[in-house]
Amino acid sequence: TRPLLEIRNLDVDYGLGGDAVHAVRDVNLTIHRGEVVGLAGESGSGKSTLAYGITRLLPPPGVVANGSVTYHPPTGDPFDVLSLSPNELRAFRWAETSIVFQGAMNSLNPVHKVSTQLMDVIKAHDPGMSKAGRLARAKELLKLVGIAEDRLESYPHQLSGGMRQRVMIGMALALEPQLVIMDEPTTALDVVMQRQILGQLVELRERLGFSVLFITHDLSLLVEFSDRIAIMYGGRIVEEAPSADIYREPKHPYSEGLLRSFPALRGARRELSGIPGSPPDLRNMPTGCSFHPRCPKAFEPCDKKLPILGKPDDHVGPHRSVACWLHPVTAG
Ligand code: ATP
Ligand code: SF4
Ligand code: MG
Repeated sequence: TRPLLEIRNLDVDYGLGGDAVHAVRDVNLTIHRGEVVGLAGESGSGKSTLAYGITRLLPPPGVVANGSVTYHPPTGDPFDVLSLSPNELRAFRWAETSIVFQGAMNSLNPVHKVSTQLMDVIKAHDPGMSKAGRLARAKELLKLVGIAEDRLESYPHQLSGGMRQRVMIGMALALEPQLVIMDEPTTALDVVMQRQILGQLVELRERLGFSVLFITHDLSLLVEFSDRIAIMYGGRIVEEAPSADIYREPKHPYSEGLLRSFPALRGARRELSGIPGSPPDLRNMPTGCSFHPRCPKAFEPCDKKLPILGKPDDHVGPHRSVACWLHPVTAG
């Protein structure tokens, strides 16, 4: 399949100089057309920072310190998102890539009806469309996400959390973007609701053909719904593989721990063991592999040399890559 978004050597810092927090380090990730990619990792591992970095929504003092983000539009030449002008960026957001933020269900404007908010998004990008046209489109979007059209006249507080979340997804789909990024859209919702909403998004993806980057702590959700999973630790992607492979045979000891931290999807529930220890201090990273102080399998080179994430297929098997001295890169 063709690539849609190629992230290369991306570094993101908060602040400058010696005090900078290195929140994202040397991230390489490709999202293909129509693909659902999951991004997992503990709190503070840099997931949101990566999402904001690639969409140019980093709050200050966040800066992309290095790298490129190449977007391949359906027609025309690829371009680097990081060098778009403010005007080009406005056109790019919503229409090519849209993002549903962490805690999005609380980001609807409480004083406006659902209809107004949906129609405003449509209007901003298609000022020529008639009001009737916008209303029809707003109805269509609600239907798409499984909400009755009479809810158009509701205010956000009249909707359940799950419905508000779905309205946000409808809004994200309003301009038929090629990529929808969802940043932990479901933390505040219960597990059943999380599964429903993610399931629905994946079903829409099948019908409409967009790609999804889905960010969560909950690896079991990703195993169920995504095609491929990237796992972050201390700002770096430490493993990337097809979901089934991660589930069956995680190669990075951190992936293994993360997988064990969530209950099994089917069959007997496993013990929730978690990963002992705490995430690294991004201002003062451990030497070598940043996971070594917590790694049950750490050995000779681990505290001295940084393991590099090879290109997929370099070593550990088809379409997989892992940054760990247990699986050194042999090719390339
Ligand atoms: P969570 O699962 O809790 O959402 P995350 O993986 O999304 O975590 P980020 O929010 O990307 O993590 O944060 C990555 C690191 O960057 C954290 O150590 C965080 O403290 C730091 N960070 C985030 N925002 C800022 C900021 N505005 N200024 C300084 N540091 C920040
Ligand atoms: Fe553990 Fe070493 Fe692999 Fe890091 S490189 S995950 S410390 S075995
Ligand atoms: Mg986050």
